[in-house]
Amino acid sequence: MSVHSEILIVGAGVVGLTTALKLAERGVSVTLLDRQLVGREASWAGAGMLPPGNPASAVTPEARLRSYSHALWPEFAADLADRTGIDTGYHICGAIEVCSHDQQDEFCQHNAQWQAEGIRVERISAHEVQQHVADMDARFENAIFLPDFAQVRNPRYLKALKAACLQRGVEILEHAHALDIRQNDGRISEVRVDARTLHFDRICFSVGAWSASLMLSLGFSIPVKPVRGQIVQLQLPAQPFRCVVELGRRYLVPRRDGLILIGSTEEHAGFAKHTTTEGVAGLLDFAKSLVPSLAHAEVVNTWAGLRPGSPDELPLLGPVPGFSNVFIGAGHFRSGLQMSPATGTILADLMLGETPRISLDGLSVDRFSSRSTAALAGVLSCFSSMIT
Ligand SMILES: Cc1cc2nc3c(=O)[nH]c(=O)nc-3n(C[C@H](O)[C@H](O)[C@H](O)COP(=O)(O)OP(=O)(O)OC[C@H]3O[C@@H](n4cnc5c(N)ncnc54)[C@H](O)[C@@H]3O)c2cc1C
Repeated sequence: MSVHSEILIVGAGVVGLTTALKLAERGVSVTLLDRQLVGREASWAGAGMLPPGNPASAVTPEARLRSYSHALWPEFAADLADRTGIDTGYHICGAIEVCSHDQQDEFCQHNAQWQAEGIRVERISAHEVQQHVADMDARFENAIFLPDFAQVRNPRYLKALKAACLQRGVEILEHAHALDIRQNDGRISEVRVDARTLHFDRICFSVGAWSASLMLSLGFSIPVKPVRGQIVQLQLPAQPFRCVVELGRRYLVPRRDGLILIGSTEEHAGFAKHTTTEGVAGLLDFAKSLVPSLAHAEVVNTWAGLRPGSPDELPLLGPVPGFSNVFIGAGHFRSGLQMSPATGTILADLMLGETPRISLDGLSVDRFSSRSTAALAGVLSCFSSMIT
């Protein structure tokens, strides 16, 4: 069977889904495929924290993408809810950031960055911390409050994205592993999936932590690696506090129904996606050290996901050098949920030949590599062994 659409998107996490939706909203025919069910990898596993941004004073590549997404989120979430009837759980909950004694310098710098970006941030006392989080350990004297910090329930967000894509006519193929990708003269023109041959004008790869091996099979090297993150989920009878609490790279995310996520580890364990006794124990200790009363909470679930990590922790977005019709959206590391509305919009712009709405300086696909030297070396050594 042969299927034709203007655009094929391989990988249906938040990056693939938002890109498909933004393209379909503009009248483009899109096929979106995933080798399993939609949105079951990092996008499902994430905590759904959405840090704020300010487009007026964002100067770094990370801040530009984050702040553009921040500006899009409220309307995007409301529109998804209106269209699909699915409440993504998006709401502004605020966040408290605290620091330990040995992290004071780093913390001050971080605070200064928020201020330089013109983001609302309030220095708060230990007493004020306890007004937000009643049972918080009193040792945290150095704390800030970010009132515009938001959160989303990512499994619900994924469900809403899928429903909105289907409403807009996106053809979604699940359990469809893109194995046989045909390239010719710098173009990819067909992909075989099971008994189907998919034809398209342009293709976008949004395969998260699996990006490096897939792109290497096309002779292009990108340094995206899986970084495992574990999460422990607690259930309390009611929401004990409203705001996210962060200490360094770990956090507590309270949901409105009394669930609390404790996250997360950062581990280089290849594609192993299981939780570990050490990881879970470390997260539980962390939670108890912040809010001692959580020692009595019920543990209801644990899981792990593979973040797509790049060397500078920033995404790679845009056309793939050496190809005329191939695009990538990958490497969002710890921020793919927050950055997804902006990423989908920008990738749609690029694939339609339009100038993206924000500068992509510092986010280009070729900032780390050109056509794979590894693949080239492989070809050359093959030639040389034939000659000798
Ligand atoms: C524990 C944890 C906590 C996190 N917390 C947050 C947070 O609070 N806020 C935030 O913004 N971000 C957070 N993140 C990061 C965020 O989840 C990721 O950046 C984001 O989900 C990446 O989305 P993606 O679409 O690129 O990848 P994925 O969601 O991994 O999707 C890639 C898809 O590609 C598919 N695929 C792979 N290979 C193929 C193939 N050959 N053919 C077809 N399909 C293929 C996979 O099945 C998968 O569905 C967290 C991540 C983790 C793990």
